[in-house]
Amino acid sequence: MEKKDTEKKRKIVILTITEDCNLDCVYCFEKAKTKKVMDIQVAKVAIEYEFKNSDGFDEIEFDLFGGEPTLYINLIKEIVEWTYAQEFQKPYLFHLETNGTLVHGEFQEWLLRNKEYVYAGLSLDGTPETHNNNRSTSYNLIDIDFFVKNYPEQSVRMTVNRSTISNLSKDIIHLHNLGFPEVVATFAYGINWEINEIKNILELELRKLCNFYLENPEIKECSIFDMNLPDILHKERKIKKWCGTGTTMVSYGIDGTKYPCHTFQPNTTSETKAIKFGEIDFNLIKDFSDPECSNCILEPTCPNCYGMNFVNGGDILTRNKQLCEIVKIRAIAISYLKAHQIEKNLKQFKPNEMFQTIEAIKEIQSKFLSE
Ligand code: SF4
Ligand code: SF4
Repeated sequence: MEKKDTEKKRKIVILTITEDCNLDCVYCFEKAKTKKVMDIQVAKVAIEYEFKNSDGFDEIEFDLFGGEPTLYINLIKEIVEWTYAQEFQKPYLFHLETNGTLVHGEFQEWLLRNKEYVYAGLSLDGTPETHNNNRSTSYNLIDIDFFVKNYPEQSVRMTVNRSTISNLSKDIIHLHNLGFPEVVATFAYGINWEINEIKNILELELRKLCNFYLENPEIKECSIFDMNLPDILHKERKIKKWCGTGTTMVSYGIDGTKYPCHTFQPNTTSETKAIKFGEIDFNLIKDFSDPECSNCILEPTCPNCYGMNFVNGGDILTRNKQLCEIVKIRAIAISYLKAHQIEKNLKQFKPNEMFQTIEAIKEIQSKFLSE
């Protein structure tokens, strides 16, 4: 999570309070689900340590993570209420990322009483049909309105799966229609995308979404359209770090061991491959380029997850090339959307930004549409 200079500098501290989950999502990257739960003393030590060792940060976000953290509601309450009682001076908040199935009744009331300190974010994959296919038939177990109404600034997270790709535009439009202000859509990692079979379908679905956003310019585009095209014009530039792993982010495993982020933990990689915080000094890496991508014009704007690179290929810089075709299809769709937004004057662009966007659109279209 990169922050602009003008924004407050936030440290992200993930607390993996359980490796247990009540669902069995088809794309889940967590290899080893266990019944293990973080001891309250481990959580307290981690929180105290982070408050004492976060000079240089304006605030701390504690992410209560799983598995599914709401399997252990009493532990969540104890962590939050203990932290509140300590009167730590640095601003902080807790973020609860949940599948929503256990957020009801008394726990909803507790969340509302603690809204100043706890933000709840929902994972939902779109229409009931898609969500139930991907996430253990759980759509009807979720009080969706509770999240929309009480966390009006909170995005909804969806994972895009291969078997439901033909429903993608309907799924995203469904999430917009439910009232979420922002849809963060991530293509599932670690699955076989069989791209040749789905390429045409994905292109068609993204074209439908482009038309939806052109007809509804007041709606914020989902994160599939979140690639900054002008970045591709700066070829001489070194590739910047994409996220905060190992620098502005730290993840605590169940037993209190620290990792750069959750993807480096044993439950995602394996006991033997896990990388502890500090074993890789991410501050020393000045260029996050992948040599295999040196001929690709999209590298400066191609999404990258160092943890998933490591899980897939054992190296943090070598990207998963299975997703290349998806990145290209996205770039073409974004170039189409931006071109029409400029032509129809649907979005405000700064003069230089508009010029650079047009140059980038030309480059993408001549490179990929002539292939
Ligand atoms: S699209 Fe593929 S080749 Fe291009 S930068 Fe991304 S991973 Fe590398
Ligand atoms: S390495 Fe991947 S999972 Fe970890 S913080 Fe970065 S993008 Fe997120």
